Amino acid sequence: MLNIVIFGPPGAGKGTQSQLIIEKYKLTHLSTGDILRGEIAAKTPLGLEAKKLTDKGELVPDEIVIKMVKNKIDSAGNHRGFIFDGFPRTVEQAVALDRLLKEKGTSISVMITLEVEEDELIKRLLKRCDEEGRSDDNIETIRNRIKVYNDVTCQVCDYYGKTGRFRPVPGTGSVEEIFERISSVIDEYAESQL
Ligand code: AMP
Repeated sequence: MLNIVIFGPPGAGKGTQSQLIIEKYKLTHLSTGDILRGEIAAKTPLGLEAKKLTDKGELVPDEIVIKMVKNKIDSAGNHRGFIFDGFPRTVEQAVALDRLLKEKGTSISVMITLEVEEDELIKRLLKRCDEEGRSDDNIETIRNRIKVYNDVTCQVCDYYGKTGRFRPVPGTGSVEEIFERISSVIDEYAESQL
């Protein structure tokens, strides 16, 4: 199996690149942001709690997110592997993910981090706000989401770095150029693991 974490600050292009990765490598997409938005749209009790946090750009508690991911992993059936998008966002989540995958006899092959300057992130997220109207793409929330990324989520890079699984990739240029960079990293792992 080939299991990849696509990582980076909000607005780095994780969702866009995930779609291209899924098409090319036939992986199963697991986006915790998408799952949470589904819960919020359905107005479930979890969704109502999560909305208060996502609207402020704060993280949803680890135990909730880890349980959501466990359910997805347990119900995945026979497949070629996952692309984890927006998860893990804390070291505790990263440790839990390693444990959950180990139970299934597999592991994260590589964590690919899209690197983009803060000014460019803000520009992209404000454009996405105009185009998609996501409620957490307003300037105040954007600034907090970037702060949470720098203060907390970034530590996940060190976690994967310590085990030689951290690969930074420049996240600027055309979508196709960025995807080529990502593909060449994945191809190093794909042949032996698919
Ligand atoms: P995203 O679509 O990945 O940018 O996620 C949108 C929002 O959902 C984030 O700003 C968080 O509030 C919440 N969220 C998504 N994934 C996680 C996670 N792994 N841990 C905690 N909160 C999350």
